[in-house]
Amino acid sequence: APPARADRAPASKALFDRAAAVLPGGVNSPVRAFRAVGGDPLFIARAEGARLFDADGAEYIDYVGSWGPAILGHAHPAVIEAVREAALGGLSFGAPTELEVRFAEKIRELYPSIDMLRCVSSGTEATMSAIRVARGFTRRDAIIKFEGCYHGHADHLLVKAGSGLATFGAPDSAGVPESIARTTLSLPFNDPAALEAAFAARGGDIAAVILEPVVGNMGCVPPEPGFLALVIDLCRKHGALSIFDEVMTGCRLARGGAQERFGLRPDLTTLGKIVGGGMPLAAYGGRADVMRVVSPLGPVYQAGTLSGNPLAVTAGLATLERLTPALYERLEKLGASLEAGLRAAAEGAGAAACVQRVGSMITLFFTKGPVRSWTDAATSDTKRFSAFHAAMLARGIYWPPSQYEAAFLSGAHSEEDIERTIAACREALAA
Ligand code: PMP
Repeated sequence: APPARADRAPASKALFDRAAAVLPGGVNSPVRAFRAVGGDPLFIARAEGARLFDADGAEYIDYVGSWGPAILGHAHPAVIEAVREAALGGLSFGAPTELEVRFAEKIRELYPSIDMLRCVSSGTEATMSAIRVARGFTRRDAIIKFEGCYHGHADHLLVKAGSGLATFGAPDSAGVPESIARTTLSLPFNDPAALEAAFAARGGDIAAVILEPVVGNMGCVPPEPGFLALVIDLCRKHGALSIFDEVMTGCRLARGGAQERFGLRPDLTTLGKIVGGGMPLAAYGGRADVMRVVSPLGPVYQAGTLSGNPLAVTAGLATLERLTPALYERLEKLGASLEAGLRAAAEGAGAAACVQRVGSMITLFFTKGPVRSWTDAATSDTKRFSAFHAAMLARGIYWPPSQYEAAFLSGAHSEEDIERTIAACREALAA
């Protein structure tokens, strides 16, 4: 059996004790605390390529990738150099820069559905603002989201955001007023009949439908054929706006995100993670007539001291410039190898499990599958997942610390990394 974590990682353990006194749960974002899998989190000292190095100097093959941004691998030399150079020119001006214009032009080039966009500093701000824009544009209040989709922690989006059962507008978090949660209608993902029924009943009230076009936040769950097109169609028919939350999928499933992969054009799109290259940067954008409601052009207020920050935009541009067709071919190839290896390992161990993957997003669900919705995902054996996670960690594999998260590949992962990971998985499942 692997040694107890406290013995193996004394420096992380000591840091976690100190952290717990000054940060709620010892962390600045809950999933980092490893609560879902038990055990204490590792404190990371540095990262390079596909490797994380913890405070005790141990090395891990990383499948979290900062929860998505690290598509080129960590500390890509060209990105680091660009940021270093930009830093010498000042960290923030609170005035417009050419860099922001270049960034916006680049995004528009990659996303034909985006005529205009606004930079913000987190995915939460991007989705919150996109919803406000949709409400301001349509002069309606209700929004539809899907169970198991996470769109950040704005009040009206913390409804069935990765856990819970299908209901009308009960908040997932304390501190969210019922009156706000009630404006959110939560529906099962991949259920066209439920969506049609919702529009038939309340079509005239609905400002927007927001979704993850390939869900990452209940584990990797692809849309069934036709489901995304139906969302766009129903929105158009009823005067609502479609919002693709591509904070996770944007620039990951293709340079132009899931919308490029599936050949679709939503009214609004939110981006984050990869577009900021590991710095705090996100964006929302879409149809010009819709985006013209944003302040100072229109009546929808939205602002930010650090929005379009020169360092963040520089890291983003340096990353976007390196998203080549060859990178996506490589990610697809690595993803296919990992998928096949994990599936064979699960079958070999006789585990009730299924592997779901789209491009470089992959999840090993401890349930028979297929997982098409939150109801399916919730049948996963999370105890088995926790044991799997600990066994992988003990073998130097840093897998996402929750059953309901996708693992991410980067261009820095090697074929050998994938083989080592599959071998570790085989042992972990046998243990
Ligand atoms: N939308 C999606 C699809 C996400 O995956 C996330 C973060 N995991 C967010 C929004 C929120 O982004 P942030 O954490 O930057 O606020």
